Amino acid sequence: MIIFGTRGVKFKIDEGHFMCPQCAAERPYKHKKVRRFFTLYFIPLIPLDSLGDFVECQQCKGTFVSRVLDYKPSMGENQFQSEYEKAMRHCMIMMMLADGEIDENEMEMVLNIINKFGHNDITMQELEDLVEVVEHQNEPIQKYLSRITPSLNEHGKEIIIKCAIAVASSDGHVDDSEIALIHEMADTMEMSKYHIKGLLSEMSGNDRKHTFSDN
Ligand SMILES: [Zn+2]
Repeated sequence: MIIFGTRGVKFKIDEGHFMCPQCAAERPYKHKKVRRFFTLYFIPLIPLDSLGDFVECQQCKGTFVSRVLDYKPSMGENQFQSEYEKAMRHCMIMMMLADGEIDENEMEMVLNIINKFGHNDITMQELEDLVEVVEHQNEPIQKYLSRITPSLNEHGKEIIIKCAIAVASSDGHVDDSEIALIHEMADTMEMSKYHIKGLLSEMSGNDRKHTFSDN
């Protein structure tokens, strides 16, 4: 009896690093192609048609359409740091401006956060100048945040939201305009409303202490 049939055989056609959508981080990948083979006694002998290709994350083993490789070429560490710094400054200042007034506690909090999470410390005077620039440019909150989102994991996203909540509450009350902005930031980073509600209640449960945590 002759046993014959067909089966799909996977070939690696390429490998490298990519932004894995599942890990939300840069990971090694293998780009694989599947080709149908004519088999004889289960041995693939004659290549037939192509069955398509896919990208496999070597960390989580998730598989994705090959278009995933076109998404955001991963940033180098320095570039990420500088984009992160821009996003942090922009978001925190926007947060401070959201309720239409700036108070001293808010300025202190923003300065504190910018210097804690940035590489380049700034002075209060420099912050005042920055506030004017941000106020004047009036750019959407998404502008810098969306650039770093693909490189942030859940923890990284939480830090930004927690800092934003700390700024919002540093004048003693969190306004609707501030909550709306926090939700806009969360949407940009593709975080769920439920997640944000949890963070908000967790932080107001702190008696609105003017603290933020990065762990
Ligand atoms: Zn992955």
